[in-house]
Amino acid sequence: MDGLNKFIYEIGSDSAFSILARSNELIKQGKEVINLGIGQPDFPTAPNIVESAVKALRDGNHGYSSSNGILELRETVAHDFFNRNNVKIDPNDILITPGGKAVIFYTLLIFGQPGVEIITPNPGFIAYKSMIDYMGAKAVALPHRMKNNFSFDAEELLSLINDNTRLIILNSPANPTGGVVPHLELEKLAKGLKKFPNVFILSDEIYSRILFDGHKHSSLLTFPEVKDRVIVLDGWSKTYSMTGWRLGYGIFPKSIFKYAEKLAINCHSCISIPTQVAGIEALKGSQDSVKKMIQEFQERRDFLVTELNKIKNVSCVSPGGAFYVFPKINKKNQKSKDISNFLLEKKFIATVPGSSFGPNGEGFLRISYASKLKNLKRFINLLNEYMNE
Ligand code: PLP
Repeated sequence: MDGLNKFIYEIGSDSAFSILARSNELIKQGKEVINLGIGQPDFPTAPNIVESAVKALRDGNHGYSSSNGILELRETVAHDFFNRNNVKIDPNDILITPGGKAVIFYTLLIFGQPGVEIITPNPGFIAYKSMIDYMGAKAVALPHRMKNNFSFDAEELLSLINDNTRLIILNSPANPTGGVVPHLELEKLAKGLKKFPNVFILSDEIYSRILFDGHKHSSLLTFPEVKDRVIVLDGWSKTYSMTGWRLGYGIFPKSIFKYAEKLAINCHSCISIPTQVAGIEALKGSQDSVKKMIQEFQERRDFLVTELNKIKNVSCVSPGGAFYVFPKINKKNQKSKDISNFLLEKKFIATVPGSSFGPNGEGFLRISYASKLKNLKRFINLLNEYMNE
């Protein structure tokens, strides 16, 4: 079709959503589908959080708020960030957004343009590459390898930087692998980046609270060498099981905050006040449900990793965070898309093919274990059956 922005043809999609749509169709046809495709905790939002939003609605908080978010929420986020990372954040550098995804969008609207290179994880969250392509910039793949527990190598990353590089995207713990970048690697990166003062970093820390085995999160903002060029993305979707509330935030360097805020004004205006009030309650209220959820995730991860490694031609490392495992699956050298498709259409299990996260994901499947243990047991039996067929 003529007359459209030529880059609109480049924009990708998120296969987890199309797989969800197909699963729902199969469910309508009466099939019992196990959905291990979507990255959404299978726990309800805690009642105290829901109640706070209901009260805000009843109290008549129905209007616009300031576009960057209500001050109490930004102060609460700054306080929470300090408690977790020991770094003081100016609440005026925080932009409250409709989910973490908007931070990716706005950051790429600020940095992306033809001629610019942006380094992005591969395999990595699909929205990064889609938006880089849409902006006409060049996505440069930063490999995250299984032998490296799906972390990256700081020296390799630094070797990818050239005069056209404007932004590096990092994500730890990661989607789709659950990989956690060790503190030492970030330290090496921060030191190395001193040589490249014009390169900014978008650090996607949306899974930073979902960590296992004593892993500690290191925010890139804790490194003084890069502090003034780090954008942190975080939010409530995963930690507080609030995916549908659409609430996230970006911490932007002062030098670019005003641009992010202008994008917010022109795009989403502000976040509904009851949702923002719920965000305050989530951070200030009891954290028991978060602890319980993480404990349950860890039990499921342990079960899956042990059982997957018992299956013929399947191998799986134990991820340090998030709620995904990313097993390598070799079924007669079939493409991961074909394997995932077969599993959905014939065994009624929804997974996401590794290749949809970039070429380095070929040969893998993403399994989201945001699903009850009984479903995971059934999945293991069906996968075992399939691998032996
Ligand atoms: N970043 C990563 C790595 C994700 O996996 C997701 C959601 O799947 C997001 C950001 C966006 O989260 P939200 O639902 O808050 O927009």
